[in-house]
Amino acid sequence: MSYVKGLKCRECARTYPAEAIYVCEFCFASLEVDYDYEAMRSHVTRARIESGPKSLWRYRDLLPIDRDPSEGFHSGFTPLVRAERLAQALGVKELFIKDDSVCHPTLSFKDRVVSVALSKAKELGFDTVACASTGNLANSVAAHGARAGLKRYIFIPHDLEAAKVLGTLIYEPNLIMVNGNYDDVNRLCGEIAAKYRWAFVNVNLRPYYAEGSKTFGFEVAEQLGWKTPAHVVCCAASGSLITKIWKGFKEFEKLDLLEAPVQTKLHCAQPEGCSPISELILSGGDALRPVKPKTIAKSLAIGNPADGYYARDAVRESGGSAEVATDHEIREGIQLLARTEGIFTETAGGVTVACAKKLIETKIIPRNDSIVLAITGNGLKTQDAIESVIEPAIKIEPHLKSFEEQMLAGRK
Ligand SMILES: *Cc1c(COP(=O)(O)O)cnc(C)c1O
Ligand SMILES: [Zn+2]
Repeated sequence: MSYVKGLKCRECARTYPAEAIYVCEFCFASLEVDYDYEAMRSHVTRARIESGPKSLWRYRDLLPIDRDPSEGFHSGFTPLVRAERLAQALGVKELFIKDDSVCHPTLSFKDRVVSVALSKAKELGFDTVACASTGNLANSVAAHGARAGLKRYIFIPHDLEAAKVLGTLIYEPNLIMVNGNYDDVNRLCGEIAAKYRWAFVNVNLRPYYAEGSKTFGFEVAEQLGWKTPAHVVCCAASGSLITKIWKGFKEFEKLDLLEAPVQTKLHCAQPEGCSPISELILSGGDALRPVKPKTIAKSLAIGNPADGYYARDAVRESGGSAEVATDHEIREGIQLLARTEGIFTETAGGVTVACAKKLIETKIIPRNDSIVLAITGNGLKTQDAIESVIEPAIKIEPHLKSFEEQMLAGRK
């Protein structure tokens, strides 16, 4: 049972069959999955969702597969953590962390999009999957693809963190390191996708892949008791996740699943060294200006974001805003979250925390409103970025005297 009608152009609304295509032949805009919401309305209820599996597949009625899912049975449904100590540190009343740093199996929200994309790839009969990645997608396609028994070609820029490279190679895919940045890698993958019959999860399967990100928003709403928060702060690379969180909230509203209409303001968080979407939002202008990324937040280093305009539109429609964080502020954001909540996030999460702090300080987010921070990845993968600011361990000899001498010197 599927509610998918097909694909539809995001600009001219021309319709296409649900195949491995992603660009409108007439206006070259991107395609999006089109659902039959009327048919969904009578079937998709809170009770039906609540009785589903504790994974992103509890929302399968709103996801673009025709047959039963084949991948990602344990992905998604991550904790929504009430963050009282961080709230106190930031001077706000009600703060939550949506913690995808513990998403199964590769510790980032990319396990959501890959679960959907690989289930779709199998439906469409592909035996080879591929992707262009800033790191986390590489880990996830490599891992899910291993379990799925698929051949994998994974393309990354040459300068990723060691843990993201190793965390891909362990699953034994073909890992291709390109001498260029992500935007170079992505352009190359467009050419390769046109020539080889491979399922590129974020190129020719992008319409399906992107829908997986809605589940991040679905979970936030369900875990808050079928409500959406007053604010969501979300980091952005291509701008897909933030766009789809909004789409997810609006779908729940359309299906009458929420206690109240969506009044959430979405805020876009980007690193200062790569902030084309935040700049577009803050400038109020009409043209996104691509940049050459220079930031420690490598997972967000996309200078020419595919969904930049759609992210801007979602933020604008919600009445939200944008911020940027310097490398120094990103490190501080990572440390603040760890120190207050015991959650170790990667640089992208540091961007979210740092930008949230600034949005609160500038009163764009009022202190009494409910806030959800999108923590999208795990700090064990980006240790390189914070090594220089971490306090070293206290070294002692194996004697009580040595312990007491050193402890008294360095006591916290
Ligand atoms: C990919 C990624 C993002 C951003 O995703 P987009 O959908 O491309 O905006 C955010 N955080 C982490 C950790 C990521 O890996
Ligand atoms: Zn079109």
